[in-house]
Amino acid sequence: MDYPGNLFVVAAPSGTGKSSLVKALMEVDAGVAPSVSHTTRAPRGQEKDGREYFFISNDDFDGMVARGDFLEWALVHGNRYGTSRRAIEQRIGSGGDVVLEIDWQGALQIKRLFPDAILVFVLPPSLDELRARLTRRGEDAPDVIELRLCNAAEELAQAENFDFVIINEIFERALFDLKAIVHAQRLKYIAQRRARPDTFKALNIV
Ligand code: GDP
Ligand code: ADP
Ligand code: 5GP
Repeated sequence: MDYPGNLFVVAAPSGTGKSSLVKALMEVDAGVAPSVSHTTRAPRGQEKDGREYFFISNDDFDGMVARGDFLEWALVHGNRYGTSRRAIEQRIGSGGDVVLEIDWQGALQIKRLFPDAILVFVLPPSLDELRARLTRRGEDAPDVIELRLCNAAEELAQAENFDFVIINEIFERALFDLKAIVHAQRLKYIAQRRARPDTFKALNIV
């Protein structure tokens, strides 16, 4: 499948800061749109249906899986999460960029479907800091935090399968790195030719 838009995938153990980074990227780069996943988990404090996620029942999730509505889906920390096919294909089909904030299992499924997808793994500076961030965020019950920390080791081992690695120690530095990855992608030959066909034509470059 060849689409004119770029597909960026950002994964990280829970609490690393990927939502904060992606949110900050959106604020400065209108060219990248987020994908809103469907999930069977319950909303946290301030979360709103249709904004962070579409919160759906297990039965509705089953129905979407059966209809082939998901590009990918995975079981993460005991809940199911999936990326809607239609929204993504429409956006990258019309030349827009999309960023998916999904777990590593979903990221690898996306890479198989879209070999040009750019996979970014975000690392916390240490496991102690990861625990501190999950605790400070204050959105998950203690047993949920423990489960997420327990799963972090296995998730971190997946970083080697990603194209880029960002260490989120100093937030502004990590955001700079994420912006650099997005920017570099847009400077690739194929992307430039697509974005500036008149310039290429005038220069007699095919
Ligand atoms: P929410 O899920 O949208 O409620 O927000 P997050 O939990 O992802 O992050 C909370 C807020 O903290 C966001 O507005 C982030 O931009 C901000 N934030 C996250 N990390 C840092 C950091 O290291 N430094 C600063 N200055 N702000 C941060
Ligand atoms: P994720 O989406 O990976 O689960 P969040 O974006 O919700 O993580 O971030 C987890 C917590 O860590 C939030 O409270 C956020 O404000 C904080 N955080 C993110 N990046 C940093 C950073 N570089 N330094 C300190 N705290 C951070
Ligand atoms: P949280 O419950 O903290 O919002 O997310 C838990 C995990 O599920 C994170 O690793 C997040 O990236 C992942 N996730 C969110 N949406 C999707 C999705 O659509 N597909 C997959 N595979 N994982 C997702």
